[in-house]
Amino acid sequence: MPVIAVVGANWGDEGKGKVTDVLARDADYVVRYQGGNNAGHTIINEFGKFALHLLPSGVFSPHVVNILGPGVAVNVSAFLSEMQSLAERGVPRPDVRISERAQALLPHHILFDSLEEERLGRDSFGSTRSGIAPFYADKYLKIGLQMNELFDNALLHARLSKSLVQKNVLLEKLYGKPPLTIDQIVAQIAAFREKLAPYVTDTTTILLDAVDAGKTVVLEGQLGTLRDPDHGIYPYPTSSSPLAGFGSVGAGVPPWSITRIVAVTKAYSSCVGAGPFVTELHGEEAETLRKLGGSAGEYGATTGRPRRVGWFDCVATAYGCRVQGATEVAITNLDVLSYRDSIPVCTAYRIDGSTTAAFPVSRLLDKAAPVYEELPGWRTDLTATRRYDDLPQRAKDYVLFIEKRIRTPIKWISIGPHRDQIIMR
Ligand code: GDP
Repeated sequence: MPVIAVVGANWGDEGKGKVTDVLARDADYVVRYQGGNNAGHTIINEFGKFALHLLPSGVFSPHVVNILGPGVAVNVSAFLSEMQSLAERGVPRPDVRISERAQALLPHHILFDSLEEERLGRDSFGSTRSGIAPFYADKYLKIGLQMNELFDNALLHARLSKSLVQKNVLLEKLYGKPPLTIDQIVAQIAAFREKLAPYVTDTTTILLDAVDAGKTVVLEGQLGTLRDPDHGIYPYPTSSSPLAGFGSVGAGVPPWSITRIVAVTKAYSSCVGAGPFVTELHGEEAETLRKLGGSAGEYGATTGRPRRVGWFDCVATAYGCRVQGATEVAITNLDVLSYRDSIPVCTAYRIDGSTTAAFPVSRLLDKAAPVYEELPGWRTDLTATRRYDDLPQRAKDYVLFIEKRIRTPIKWISIGPHRDQIIMR
């Protein structure tokens, strides 16, 4: 059985949580391999409606082993409270393991994220202020703390004393704040250490053995291609790679084992946070789409911020799918567009007088204007449809039009937020 990666083709919030939840029914392992609790995956199932932030979307399937791989930013307090909230809502206790090599996102990472966004003011990055950028900065500066290291007091003191030398200069001189002390941070860690201990283990061996044994492993990406630090809309990416290719690194599975890559995209576009967004809508047209989109309008699952919305962008999504190496596409929220008489789809960008279907660098994206083709709407409720053949012809034509331009087969069509509202093609 394969390793299947479920990844975003766009800016995130494409509906990966739902697709992962569906795949989890037949999976042995569901693995988060990057990012932290800075985005939410919405899942609606027999237990209710959930916005998972750090937990893998396999936590509702009791037979699944859920893993936070070495590439994840683990905010331990957020992890423990997410576990607690599942228990309070009657979800059977899931099997969750955290890689001993994953690193801890600590309160001072959140502090630095907020202080820097405030300092930047109008030039801020639109961070969720969950500490992600300072966390990954520390990891690559080699002053972070792996899970296994949280249990070694001598090592903790040595690493923190190295790290605080530079952090306290920034706190005092740049931000005008009191310095941090080693004791303060050690106390924060000591407060959760006992509760964390049972989850920490060697997940790399578990997953390598699982691949050898032919188990089904689902890698669950967070955000999407356009938030990748190398291939995305720099300087507005996230701080870890949301690509399926990084799944191998961040989870710890061989690259050859990832044989299915499901890129998820919405039937329109949505984007939380700053950065170029060529098909963005404003005013009343945006407000209507925002209210009707998703399961309860297009508002961030973590922050509640209104999401920026726009029409489907074939240029960005073709790039998004191809950079992911998608073997198949899941298009979600097709039901949302049923209110339209006709639906614009962006097929190219106009930049400095030339037309292109290639996704350019951010500097040029800022100047890009969308070229639209207007497709006829279907004006029919799709939410009860379960077979591709039963979709209105115009809805099929919409899907086929997009499929041709993104150059990847659309195998999943989601027509509502619930688990069973899915059409396999
Ligand atoms: P993720 O981060 O990629 O998992 O996406 P989010 O959960 O942040 O956003 C997807 C939104 O779309 C959520 O509100 C989902 O409940 C909702 N959703 C997913 N698929 C569908 C669908 O086919 N139709 C509708 N109406 N909502 C959907």
